Amino acid sequence: MTERAPSDIARETFKLLAGRKLAPTPENYMVLYREIAGTPMVLPFPDEPLKQIAKALPAQNPGQQKQRALFEMAVDKRDWTAVQTAMVGFASFGVAAPEAPTAAKVSAQPGQFAPLTPEFLQQIARMIEHTLPALGTDDTRFSEQAKALLAAMRHPVPDTLGVKTALANFSHRVSFAAEEQTEIKTALLHLLQLIFQNIGELSTDDKWLKGQIEALRAAATPPLSLRRLDEVELLLKDVIFKQTEAKGRALEAQDQLRQMLSSFIEHLSKMTESSSGFHDTIERCAQQIGQAQSIAEIGPVLEAAMKAAQTMAQDTRQVRDELQGMRQKAQAAETQIVQLHQELDRVSAQARHDPLTGALNRQGLDEAIEREVSGARRKHRPLCLALLDIDNFKKINDTLGHNVGDSALAHLAKVTRESLRPQDTLARYGGEEFVVLLPDTTLDPGIEAMTRLQRELTKRIFLEGEAKILITFSAGVAELAADETGMEAVKRADQAMFLAKRAGKNRVLGA
Ligand code: GH3
Ligand code: MG
Ligand code: MG
Repeated sequence: MTERAPSDIARETFKLLAGRKLAPTPENYMVLYREIAGTPMVLPFPDEPLKQIAKALPAQNPGQQKQRALFEMAVDKRDWTAVQTAMVGFASFGVAAPEAPTAAKVSAQPGQFAPLTPEFLQQIARMIEHTLPALGTDDTRFSEQAKALLAAMRHPVPDTLGVKTALANFSHRVSFAAEEQTEIKTALLHLLQLIFQNIGELSTDDKWLKGQIEALRAAATPPLSLRRLDEVELLLKDVIFKQTEAKGRALEAQDQLRQMLSSFIEHLSKMTESSSGFHDTIERCAQQIGQAQSIAEIGPVLEAAMKAAQTMAQDTRQVRDELQGMRQKAQAAETQIVQLHQELDRVSAQARHDPLTGALNRQGLDEAIEREVSGARRKHRPLCLALLDIDNFKKINDTLGHNVGDSALAHLAKVTRESLRPQDTLARYGGEEFVVLLPDTTLDPGIEAMTRLQRELTKRIFLEGEAKILITFSAGVAELAADETGMEAVKRADQAMFLAKRAGKNRVLGA
């Protein structure tokens, strides 16, 4: 191809512009010129329009912001490949995240719903799934509704409006289901209470079951927790076990007594038989002796009479032996039942005791106070109530651990029980606080008793491995006044204990 003169090309370019009815702009002129000249079509880089586009691009999420920056850099470098990469990248960040709808916006745009992100819907779906078991599974319509809602929420392209409507219907039904579950729980609890009450009333000897039944009823009173329900279960198992055992043994003993009674009657009838036989023989012998003509005739008669007497004596001995054996058996059965009842009493008493220290618990303390106060009033005898609180107990826990703290509490209770009189009562009032009831004791001897206990504790030091731990306590002692309740006296003792702490601890003060 021969080179053409630029002037020729220019002329032809103008002709073509006119021929194609194009506007005579520099750009159109350039395009046609290159077409005629056959030179490659290199368009100038459109910096300005691209920069305008970059400005117009939204940058409402970090992805968009980054891609817009890359786009601007590509424009600056006039790099079409980089521009393309930035645009594709930008597209992958989709539409801008909607602004959080405010109440004002929602009410200003009725009927319009901000799109929910799939992650958010997934979260709600998971939450619904987790709450379903708590709402019961008996209602099939409810389950179907839940399934449909979950499917709608997990759809790859969720229909926001549809999900919202389904969610509204579902939550309406949930409110009923939740209400029903609450009612069921209350009714079950009521039933449980009734059962406990009945067990208590059914028991022929309610003394030995009273403790457990009361503990059960207290444990099954709202607010409930899994831990408390566990306690209820354990207690109930214990009650059922003990009751079944007692019933079994009682039935056994009853059976033994019945057997003994029937064999006694049998023996009695045998004895009657043999004694009436004896009676007949003797009568017959008497007649024969009366009619006897000679001594020789009397001999065999006497022999028969003696034989009858011997048989009679043998029978009687046998019966006596058998009856004695039976009586021993009956006594053994009775002893067993008494032991069983004692065991039941002991188990029942546990409901009144603190398991860690063996001291009475609050329930036990209330009863003991009632008993001691009424006894003191009835007998016109004094009664002292002391409250002791271990000094710096928190420090023992903190430095040696909670288990050592527990052992220290058990040690204190042991020493207290062993150094007080048998008629004194020890009760755990709170964490490391104990109440001591001292019957027949006026204030000064009461204070002395507690001071003696302090000394005893320094003598019988608490050993934990190699460590010797001195446990001291502060105590307040109150003598029951004529016009106050037992608990009021405990409160006074508590105030005195507080003053003992303020005064430097490890001391006993009278209230
Ligand atoms: P203060 O001499 O003034 O009475 O001080 P304190 O540390 O003895 O008394 P405080 O009331 O500050 O702490 C009592 C501690 O007793 C706190 C609690 O953790 C602990 N405690 C309560 N009950 C138990 C228990 O059953 N076992 C153990 N190991 N610690 C308990
Ligand atoms: Mg305390
Ligand atoms: Mg303390």
